[in-house]
Amino acid sequence: MSLTDITARVHKAEAAAGRTVGETKLIAVSKRQPDERVEAMLAEGHRLFGENQVQEAAGKWPDFRARFDGVEVHLLGPLQTNKARQAMGLFDAIHSLDRPKLAKTLARLAQEIGQCPELFIQVNTGEEPQKAGVMPLEADAFVAECRALDLPVVGLMCIPPVEEEPSLHFALLAKIAERNGLTGLSMGMSGDFERAVALGATHVRVGSAIFGDRAY
Ligand SMILES: *Cc1c(COP(=O)(O)O)cnc(C)c1O
Repeated sequence: MSLTDITARVHKAEAAAGRTVGETKLIAVSKRQPDERVEAMLAEGHRLFGENQVQEAAGKWPDFRARFDGVEVHLLGPLQTNKARQAMGLFDAIHSLDRPKLAKTLARLAQEIGQCPELFIQVNTGEEPQKAGVMPLEADAFVAECRALDLPVVGLMCIPPVEEEPSLHFALLAKIAERNGLTGLSMGMSGDFERAVALGATHVRVGSAIFGDRAY
């Protein structure tokens, strides 16, 4: 689908939910997509992108940023502490803050560098053992811990279990965010972004629906 089609669907979902049309940020997830497709989207005027890996982002975004103004790139995938410094130089936001060790590393680097990308705490709403994210019951304490470290936490992120109704997970994430005074909600992907918008997503992360299938 074209970017215009996806944007229209986001707007329709916002209107249906009684939200302000155009307020949801559409992150075009460009991981493992050919550079030509990403470049076409930049040429169309889109400026907000998501990547899954530090290494892959390092290979393409410095060049695109040099050629296009106003580009914003968010890290959506897991971050190892030994890549944290590099990630802080590459990304405008990190959606995968998921453990105390990473929080401490980011806080130390932020002190040293004097700036920090906006952060979303990833919550493992489905409590899946193989998935990253803090458990829902640990989320409040982790938000407090990150705030005590002076980290710029702006919201929460989740990736619902594939087999379950995502709306339940989006609602849970929204509830945890609200009771912690967090306004950012990074939720919704190609298959479920309209349901995420209905439940208050501020950032939807859409890859294959915009770009087509990824190369593996
Ligand atoms: C790949 C990815 C997406 C986009 O997935 P699609 O199903 O292609 O829209 C969104 N969020 C995260 C964290 C991802 O890794």
